[in-house]
Amino acid sequence: MGQTLKLFRRDRPPAHGPHSRGLYLCTMTTTPDYLIIGGGIVGCSLALELARAGASVVVLERGAVGCASSSAAAGLLAPTFGPSPPGPLQVLCQRGALLYREWLDELHADGAQDVGYRQTGLLTVCLDASEAAQVRGLLSTEAFPGRRAEWLDAGQLRAREPALCDRVLGAGFYPDDCHLDPAFLVRETGRAAAMRGVEVREHEPVMQLDREGTRLVAVHTERQTYRPQCVVVAAGAWSGALAATLGLKLPTRPVKGQMLMAECAQLPVQTPLHAGNALLIPWPDGRLAIGVTVEEAGFDDRVRLDSLRQILNRVIELVPSVGGLALSHAWAGLRPATPNDWPYMGPVPTFDNVWISAGHYRKGTLLAPICARLLAKSLLAGRLVEELAAFHPGDAQSHPTS
Ligand SMILES: Cc1cc2nc3c(=O)[nH]c(=O)nc-3n(C[C@H](O)[C@H](O)[C@H](O)COP(=O)(O)OP(=O)(O)OC[C@H]3O[C@@H](n4cnc5c(N)ncnc54)[C@H](O)[C@@H]3O)c2cc1C
Repeated sequence: MGQTLKLFRRDRPPAHGPHSRGLYLCTMTTTPDYLIIGGGIVGCSLALELARAGASVVVLERGAVGCASSSAAAGLLAPTFGPSPPGPLQVLCQRGALLYREWLDELHADGAQDVGYRQTGLLTVCLDASEAAQVRGLLSTEAFPGRRAEWLDAGQLRAREPALCDRVLGAGFYPDDCHLDPAFLVRETGRAAAMRGVEVREHEPVMQLDREGTRLVAVHTERQTYRPQCVVVAAGAWSGALAATLGLKLPTRPVKGQMLMAECAQLPVQTPLHAGNALLIPWPDGRLAIGVTVEEAGFDDRVRLDSLRQILNRVIELVPSVGGLALSHAWAGLRPATPNDWPYMGPVPTFDNVWISAGHYRKGTLLAPICARLLAKSLLAGRLVEELAAFHPGDAQSHPTS
């Protein structure tokens, strides 16, 4: 019998479950302490933290909770995956990884269901001598405080992952890295926030922002006008355009990522691994996630066949038996990036009551809990905490170029 190929975009709200329209609505507050624009993992985790502190919070989401980048992610909680040069961002990633288990315990205590969190480790596979020297150099510089990292030579690596091609020279192995289901994470975070009293208003895009002097006085949607004490822009790749309507120069751009899922009778690899952007993640249910592209393609979030071919060429070169697997589905998402790939976090210039948390690029799943915790603390204190000082949007021009 023939197979049906399901190529779909992950940003379409599923027909059932907590993504469906209206599930989060309870009462209707138009004058909350905090109004968060964007119901991705960054907005939902921040809303949850603020609600835990007793604040009244409304989240306005244009589509369904998690409908954009947050559900399209690969789900790696791996500080070394995706470039992040030494400095405050790398430190934040390390801290984010250390906080994760505790944060998820609290999420579950708030009523969230399982999000598929597993300590899987991650292998950074090297195919040429210069990559191997770079990875080994990093391992020897103690760049990973509080986390284990070791070098596996070709023999050790192939003993662990025999399906890898003959060209492998070795791998950096990060046994403490973890994986989860990113779509479940954002859904459950939104649900836990709602159970804490956050009004999560789906399918309600922000249409207009009104300014009076140094204050943002009104947020308009088609349904309502809100007059919150404070507004946080957490609209992912769309944040820059929203900020621009307030005269702010905080550009964000979408960086497209495409991935696909394969069905396996037997998983070809046991540990999540990557060689550059050739990425394989075995899921506990026997499927294999395969990726990934990093593309400047504007706001086009459709799956492209030539991108899938490019992904498959790279991955099959690394693990030849992948070519025999059956395709389940493919998807694309738009990572929110800034000009220098550092997120903006903190109060925006020239306003007394507007903050931003956007541009977490390739690390938003990993960074969301630590950033939510630190940003909520900052908002409640009215001052950005020291740990986030490097990401102050007023200093965006001074961020290093990676
Ligand atoms: C293929 C891929 C793989 C990835 N893998 C990983 C990984 O392994 N690990 C990791 O840490 N990160 C990964 N990421 C990155 C991660 O997904 C992002 O950094 C993170 O999801 C950003 O979250 P966000 O909430 O800022 O943005 P989004 O999830 O994009 O949320 C922003 C929300 O704002 C809403 N919005 C926009 N405009 C408006 C408006 N006017 N009114 C109301 N709402 C609005 C949007 O609808 C959207 O839901 C990956 C991303 C992709 C695409």
